[in-house]
Amino acid sequence: MSETFKAVIREEVDGQPVTRIRELGLADLPAHDVLVDVAYSTLNYKDGLAVSGKAPIARSLPMVCGVDLAGTIVESANSDYKPGDKVLVNGWGLSERHWGGYTQRQRVKSDWLVRVPDAFTLEQTMAIGTAGYTSMLCVLALEDHGITPDQGEILVTGAGGGVGSVAIALLSRLGYRVAASTGRAETHDYLKRLGASEIVDRATLSERGRPLDKERWAGAVDSVGSQTLATLLAQIKYGGAVAACGLAGGNDLPATVLPFILRGVSLLGVDSVMAPKAKRERAWQRLASDLDQGLLAEMTEVEPMSNIFALADKILAGQTRGRVVIDVN
Ligand code: NDP
Repeated sequence: MSETFKAVIREEVDGQPVTRIRELGLADLPAHDVLVDVAYSTLNYKDGLAVSGKAPIARSLPMVCGVDLAGTIVESANSDYKPGDKVLVNGWGLSERHWGGYTQRQRVKSDWLVRVPDAFTLEQTMAIGTAGYTSMLCVLALEDHGITPDQGEILVTGAGGGVGSVAIALLSRLGYRVAASTGRAETHDYLKRLGASEIVDRATLSERGRPLDKERWAGAVDSVGSQTLATLLAQIKYGGAVAACGLAGGNDLPATVLPFILRGVSLLGVDSVMAPKAKRERAWQRLASDLDQGLLAEMTEVEPMSNIFALADKILAGQTRGRVVIDVN
């Protein structure tokens, strides 16, 4: 292993926070119990915010960016893990409170590790990444609420993005009829290939509507928030539920309580970052069994770490389609 390696690091230069790619040494890494030879990371919306500095994601500087990583263990002080084991980390505060995955080497806590399922290569786990694992958490939340395919259509918002794309592929494979809400006409064919049977113009959801609208959806996976979430809550069928995980359209919720108290609608909050290990392992097992790998390839592009600055701007502008794997080497 080389003495030095490259990382995307946010740090102060001349009193100003900047993000840049520079060389680090093993001695620079945090003192956690497992050293990983990182192969891939990913691009998520939060990574766009962190790299560009458009939101204060890093709680302290210097901070290596990247909320995900996948790679091979080089050294381990925990006997449950051995050199050569293939592992991944999603969240746990990477890029916020702990150094993250945009690096060729990283030390992480063994508590954070998920073993790479046999079904996947390291690259595929990062094609899924935090966005895709969050999609699975949303699907599990709807299933655990008792939503079944015979109850009606599921609406997926932010459909052309990472969470949305994986959610469509999963739900359609599981037998649900899926409607995809997007603002990009050029994604319509792509969304249909992933399994959407209906396209909804996102503009129809982002205008303030009636507090109770026509009952249309048995459930929804929402990565947009704000007026979109308020509108779709008003359109959920009696007893249905929305798995809410995102804020691509804003972090407010200009809704009324009427869907909850008159239709028994449930708002299911989904967090991936601090989800307990057992929940993560359940999600990854289900991804291994329920995600069509052909569709995963269809929604994924691989980019070198050197392109991270342009990619960060692109995801914040809502121009990324599906998932982006970051090849750190
Ligand atoms: P992407 O940028 O890949 O996808 C977001 C999509 O939302 C876009 O592709 C676009 O879809 C739509 N969108 C963007 N801006 C707006 C807007 N102003 N109004 C309406 N729709 C908009 O991001 P990710 O899929 O990685 O993440 C989606 C959201 O989920 C983010 O807010 C992210 O922070 C959150 N998230 C939360 C997690 C958690 O643990 N709770 C984990 C992972 C993600 P289209 O062009 O098709 O309309």
